[in-house]
Amino acid sequence: MKTLHELHFDNRFINHLPEDTNKDKTCRQVFNACYSSVLPQKVSRPQLVCYSPEVAQLLDLAAHVCESEEFAHVFVGNQLVNGMQPYATCYGGHQFGQWAGQLGDGRAINLGEVINSEKQRLTLQLKGSGKTPYSRTSDGLAVLRSSVREFLCSEAMHHLGVPTTRALSLVLTGESVLRDMFYDGNQRYEAGAVVCRVAQSFTRFGHFQIHTTRNDITLLKQLVDYTIQTDFPHLGKPSVETYLQWFSEVCQKTAEMIVHWQRVGFVHGVMNTDNMSILGLTIDYGPYGWLEDFNYHWTPNTTDADHRRYHFGNQPRVAFWNLAQLANAIFPLVQDSKALQDILEKHYTNTFQRGYEKMMAQKLGLEQFDDALISDLMTLLQTVETDMTIFYRQLANVDMTQTDIDTKPLTHAYYDKAYQGENYQNQLHAWLKHYACLIVTDELERKTKMNAVNPNYVLRNYLSQQAIDAAEEGDFSEIERLLNLLRKPYDEQPEFSKYAQKRPEWAKMKAGCSMLSCSS
Ligand code: AMP
Ligand code: MG
Repeated sequence: MKTLHELHFDNRFINHLPEDTNKDKTCRQVFNACYSSVLPQKVSRPQLVCYSPEVAQLLDLAAHVCESEEFAHVFVGNQLVNGMQPYATCYGGHQFGQWAGQLGDGRAINLGEVINSEKQRLTLQLKGSGKTPYSRTSDGLAVLRSSVREFLCSEAMHHLGVPTTRALSLVLTGESVLRDMFYDGNQRYEAGAVVCRVAQSFTRFGHFQIHTTRNDITLLKQLVDYTIQTDFPHLGKPSVETYLQWFSEVCQKTAEMIVHWQRVGFVHGVMNTDNMSILGLTIDYGPYGWLEDFNYHWTPNTTDADHRRYHFGNQPRVAFWNLAQLANAIFPLVQDSKALQDILEKHYTNTFQRGYEKMMAQKLGLEQFDDALISDLMTLLQTVETDMTIFYRQLANVDMTQTDIDTKPLTHAYYDKAYQGENYQNQLHAWLKHYACLIVTDELERKTKMNAVNPNYVLRNYLSQQAIDAAEEGDFSEIERLLNLLRKPYDEQPEFSKYAQKRPEWAKMKAGCSMLSCSS
């Protein structure tokens, strides 16, 4: 275990890539550089809200270090420890299908790259610690509400087995931040907060796109070579061949991430190319949400309400589109569009399809994917309002060996009484009969296998909102409780059973529970 001063930094990104030579910190276009050196903004009264013991452990930090006053100062951005060299990176991106030009770390400041005792590289990044040259017209800050959501969801996703950036800490700044949550003229002051995110790297598709659109192919090559050497060292020396292999791996990792999202019912909400990690990590927790009633077309993001570009069922297609933009970005280095297209098909489309089929079979405890069974299930789940998480979990409790199947466990999953109707009941029983024919394991094995992939607990939208409401009143115990409970999402944990129940009716249309926006 280490103190903060004993952390070992090896800041490769800034040591290997060109820095913005303009020392003017105002918001502007940054050319010929991958990053700008910038200091986090100092704040008046940092207060630790929570930290993740698992991420602290990854960094070799003991509990007493995380609970110290110094920790709050360091991870709010007030104080640097030896080896930290703060910087914000330059990237661009397609937002909602349109090229948006330079975006960049507008409110994220990287503190440096730690090499832990296991020799893993872990970049520390503060989110909400003030303006950078990439802040455009915004303030570079973040509010408690969105920081709680980012902190809890990063950790919940990790424990669900979904590739994700992690969160070390959440610290209140003691300052207030003005926000108009729904962009409707209702501004209010909210508590400012900073999350320290942790990942091997935070490189996004947009980091490559920006240089290609500016026709700065030298810088593009430099960044691609750096990324391969640092994040994909097993691919060997950069060459055209290596670039194609690298693109295959990104396709594959992205496909695997999306399969996980579809498995647990996670809707990212803003799958812009600047929010896509080159490592296939879920990144940038903004207006994300969890499916409660299973609705293929659902998105929690009110900013996307008209076109629903990023709805649950569209995520696999959007990932493909985003990867195609990455392919365009690296085209100048490979000059072979057929090769890139073939990789997209083979390593994204096929990997996704195979992964999805395997995952859906596992969710039902089956050895084999059955097209008709799954497609009928998708219809069934949308015939009456049905909680996705509870349905799969309770399906494991239905005794499938009986000729007259008792569907009582499933009644916990329905949001309305329509499930009692004759039509739905006939549809359900027909589906169960088909399902029963495909089961090859005994009931105990089926249940064990299903419960290993179908979580009992997810970060239901209203649960984070309740934790936020309490935190805004100074009570952080609900955040702690959720963090604790979401550590073992596949376990029964009977003491927490109320957290596994359906969303209460009041939460159905409540802001923050079912409706979110990009304002954070
Ligand atoms: P997002 O929609 O959160 O992925 O953000 C898109 C871009 O806007 C990124 O470049 C962010 O860094 C930037 N951004 C978002 N919120 C802020 C903020 N409050 N201050 C400065 N930049 C921001
Ligand atoms: Mg973003």
